[in-house]
Amino acid sequence: MSLIPTLTLNTKAKIPQVGLGTWQSTNDDGYKSVIAALKSGYTLIDTASVYGNEAEVGKAIKDSGVPREKLFITTKLWCTDHQNVAKALHKSLELLELDYIDLYLIHWPIALNPHGTPALFPRLPDGRRDLVDEKEWDYIKTYKELQKLVSTGKVKAIGISNFNKFRIEKLLADPEVTIVPAALQIELHPLLPQQELVDYAQSKGIVVEAYSPLGSTGAPILSNETLIKFAKKHDVSPATIALSWAVWRKTVVLPKSTNAERIASNLKVIKLTDEEGKEINNISKVSGTKRIVSPDWGVKVFD
Ligand code: NDP
Repeated sequence: MSLIPTLTLNTKAKIPQVGLGTWQSTNDDGYKSVIAALKSGYTLIDTASVYGNEAEVGKAIKDSGVPREKLFITTKLWCTDHQNVAKALHKSLELLELDYIDLYLIHWPIALNPHGTPALFPRLPDGRRDLVDEKEWDYIKTYKELQKLVSTGKVKAIGISNFNKFRIEKLLADPEVTIVPAALQIELHPLLPQQELVDYAQSKGIVVEAYSPLGSTGAPILSNETLIKFAKKHDVSPATIALSWAVWRKTVVLPKSTNAERIASNLKVIKLTDEEGKEINNISKVSGTKRIVSPDWGVKVFD
């Protein structure tokens, strides 16, 4: 029996609170990290078409022998595919060698020219991002395309990533938006708790997923003295404290690692007391907040 706590999506499906992140885990690293994760007991894997590793993730799932129905697989629609949702999903399913995705997310609320160069991050000759004019196509249109996928059975749930409160409110206010997103995936760690956005999403029944929970590449969050203090107290690593905090605040957390030992250890979250959780909540009030993932899209994405 799995000991990983779960949350319930608005589709009634259960999602484990700890899953493997796979950004920057490409080629052999992608394959091996997913194999290691599935061996250690992970059932949630987070990938994206832009990570370029869906084929490796899919092969690892297949080779692991874990039955498909025991797994929860998330992938994401890339910015150059906003006007081509059904085709993009088909490509992801093909690469993953799966019949369905458990959760399909709009990766960013940004539509990029699908025929620009370079192909995935197109820029105009003057260096600006090659954005599709919002009057022509916006993220709400994209979301409505995702809605159509649900009845096909090829996606069990749909959601959003890197959306702020304003964009979610606008989405939910649209009369043709009939499915509340099941999940919102955003950057969350002790230096970026985004409490208001988390509270808002949770109040709408949207499960919040924490990306870059260790501060992304090099895990810079782990040198924080409050995390180190609690790590010593509980005889675990600072990473365990950061991930356990995410679980304590009722979010899903998606640590990435390509190291089998760290992958296994990241799954072993502990139960923090409310007092400990609240002290970690306060870290950024003293040190200030720090956003790590913030691509220059040429338009304002966050608050
Ligand atoms: P993380 O915050 O998960 O940090 C990854 C870094 O932490 C790597 O350098 C890893 O090194 C290191 N690390 C992992 N575990 C430990 C540990 N126990 N002790 C010490 N160091 C450790 O970064 P990501 O930015 O990758 O975020 C996680 C996932 O979230 C992504 O992989 C992706 O799936 C998702 N994501 C989604 C985004 C979105 O726009 N929706 C944006 C960014 C991420 P090593 O591999 O050597 O262990």
